[in-house]
Amino acid sequence: MGSQGTMANIMVVFDFDKTIVDCDTDNWVLDNLGFTELFEQLLPTMPWNPLMDLMMKTMHEKGVTKNDIVEVLKTTPMHDRIIPAIKSAYDAGCDLRILSDANRFFIETILDHHGIKDYFTEIHTNPGYVDENGRVRIFPHHDFTTKPHDCENILCPPNMCKGVVMEKLLTNEGDNTFIYLGDGNGDHCPSLKLREIDYCMPRKNYPLWGVISSNPKLINAKIHGWSDGGDLERVLLSLVDGVLSSKLENKGGHQSLAKVDFKFKNNVPRPSQKVLPPAA
Ligand SMILES: [Mg+2]
Ligand SMILES: [Zn+2]
Repeated sequence: MGSQGTMANIMVVFDFDKTIVDCDTDNWVLDNLGFTELFEQLLPTMPWNPLMDLMMKTMHEKGVTKNDIVEVLKTTPMHDRIIPAIKSAYDAGCDLRILSDANRFFIETILDHHGIKDYFTEIHTNPGYVDENGRVRIFPHHDFTTKPHDCENILCPPNMCKGVVMEKLLTNEGDNTFIYLGDGNGDHCPSLKLREIDYCMPRKNYPLWGVISSNPKLINAKIHGWSDGGDLERVLLSLVDGVLSSKLENKGGHQSLAKVDFKFKNNVPRPSQKVLPPAA
């Protein structure tokens, strides 16, 4: 764990598709390279994750290069407040993670393109890389052919239970206050693992929001919705600010601890902020 995380004792865990980027990256690549129809024909016959690997094989055979895929990934839509939100949370001392059912190659390509990969301590996702023949390979996070995850939540796909990953994070990094952001059905399982001291940020009117709304008592964490990147930034930074303030109060020594001035850097208006000078 990096020093950043030690500083604030807050871990912010982001889903990727429709949370950091404003689309599903698999669909974005398929749509923009003309493979959506084939994908939809085959989807009833096999699970999503191995089908994506097969689609990468088919693309490779039809002459689509790794660079073609990279160029499409670079155009993935992202709200213009997402990057400032990530940078501000990092500057505030949060340990940032990604927990995604996309794949490492797509995610790292997009984060690299925007120059924000190094803000994340770790990316928890499906393996994805370019092999020696220039073909993109995508594999399951849990190898469900030999060792399936034992989560029975029907919303968790066979290749990845985000709840299993979240449990490990909570076991190893449980001193942190967790903030989890997501939109999809697969984000329900990790949200169920959060504790009362943690925060769950479901995207309003997306599947996770619906599942939580149908039985909010299942979630121990405090729930704060958001609808777009600007909203994500405001809600996330105000939660981080609140957690930092309460940690400072618990420690008592307001003056000696650096109250991070992240709120001023990106000009985020927040009504109830306490104005403290940046550390000398
Ligand atoms: Mg998502
Ligand atoms: Zn699960």
